[in-house]
Amino acid sequence: MAEPYKIVVGLEVHVQLLTKTKLFCGCLNQFGLPPNTATCPVCLGLPGSLPVMNAEAFRLALKAALALNCHIASHPGHTPGFTKWDRKNYYYPDLPKNYQISQYDLPFSHDGWLDINVHADPKKGHTPKRVGIIRAHLEEDAGKNQHDESGRGGDTKVDLNRTGTPLLEIVSQPDMNTPEEAMAYLEEVRLMMRELGVSDCEMQEGSLRCDANVNVHVPDASEPKGYAATPLVEIKNLNSFRAVGRAIAYEAKRQFEEYQKNPKTYRIGNYLKTTAGWDDAKGRTEVQRHKEEAADYRYFPDPDLVPVVVTAEQLAAVKADLGELPQAQRQRLQTQYGLTAYDADVLTAKGRRTVAYFEAVAGALGDGKAAANRMSDLVYPALTERREEIDEFPFTAERFAAFLKGAPANSQDRRDVFTAMLADGLTLEEAKAKVGIKEVDEATLRAAAAAAVAANPKAVADFKSGKENAKNSIVGTVMKANKGAPNDVVRRLVDEELAKV
Ligand code: ZN
Ligand code: MN
Repeated sequence: MAEPYKIVVGLEVHVQLLTKTKLFCGCLNQFGLPPNTATCPVCLGLPGSLPVMNAEAFRLALKAALALNCHIASHPGHTPGFTKWDRKNYYYPDLPKNYQISQYDLPFSHDGWLDINVHADPKKGHTPKRVGIIRAHLEEDAGKNQHDESGRGGDTKVDLNRTGTPLLEIVSQPDMNTPEEAMAYLEEVRLMMRELGVSDCEMQEGSLRCDANVNVHVPDASEPKGYAATPLVEIKNLNSFRAVGRAIAYEAKRQFEEYQKNPKTYRIGNYLKTTAGWDDAKGRTEVQRHKEEAADYRYFPDPDLVPVVVTAEQLAAVKADLGELPQAQRQRLQTQYGLTAYDADVLTAKGRRTVAYFEAVAGALGDGKAAANRMSDLVYPALTERREEIDEFPFTAERFAAFLKGAPANSQDRRDVFTAMLADGLTLEEAKAKVGIKEVDEATLRAAAAAAVAANPKAVADFKSGKENAKNSIVGTVMKANKGAPNDVVRRLVDEELAKV
């Protein structure tokens, strides 16, 4: 590490659950509806209305918590599985009830972990790292204030459609030590939540939100622990992966500089935690306020909601529905198909449907490495260009495997044929004809290799005198005259003909 300090980061991630309706009422949970059309007396907090918990939201939250290896409501002094709702009181225009229904001291899940992959080198694969999860709890979201940003002092508008939609808050341990680790953690959380159908995790639409708690440890022999810990800053509303990385790097450096100015007093114990915003355009954090302590929120159990007791049967049913999680999938792809850690990682990151496609292709070819390579150089670029998902792609796994079996061995020719098939809906044979590829048998190629060797005495002499490169011009001559010929076969034949000279 280049910096003279150690970065310490914990992340608080909010994901919006993919339910049809809100957490405590029947209003639609849907992004992009006309303002204030998805509201009712319950989510508006009108007197006399009573909330009822959405069982599907709770099921999705359990799924996420199990995938994060959390204990489910295992609280000393309480029945196993017992969890309750609490009111977090604060006033804000987008919170019409003046309190948020959340979970305080008895969250439904806690004490889990998530293994993340930090890429040291894409060719060598990744180094797994375990990040602890302090807790994951359920809560309702607030609405949205739309401030007038024209600078002409217009009104702020309040849209309460989002009020009461279900959120899962996942709080990590401060186990991440670089911006890259924080981003890798966030990517893993996003991949997992998407694969489980828990959330679509669209940062742009706010269904994945991230706050980072950052401080640094500076080596300091006069401290009992051998280092000085700087005051904690919580960076709010980071709205892209890149922003998360940049904000952490910036804030750590800022704290280190602050420490250098005040090496005796700039300590975590001497300051309250502060909140900062990230200004992406200016590339800097801006300290906003001192964070409320828990006491300021006057938490108390919500008298309108009954506590929940998660049963063993319920847990078993949710567990059975998890499917293969990303980290297990990466491992299996390596052992079952002989993929590198890097290739397994790329594939897993594309999601379960792409993995299923890969497995069908690999099975048909009997070669996992070839299937992964051909998907990387043909399928992924085509999907990007066509803006298609894998299950909309005109090449089913079966068709793609059949294509690979009959496709030219030369990579450029193979790509040309594939492109022609995709663009014009041609069969393999039609596409080969269009691209100008003739089938060439080995005897023809051998004759061509012998002829090329005979016609290039200078190259042959150079090769014989130790210039390996001289061989390439002979191979090139053969390839040019036999478009579509497998390069490795031509190389072998040229080697054999050269040996005879
Ligand atoms: Zn409602
Ligand atoms: Mn929260």
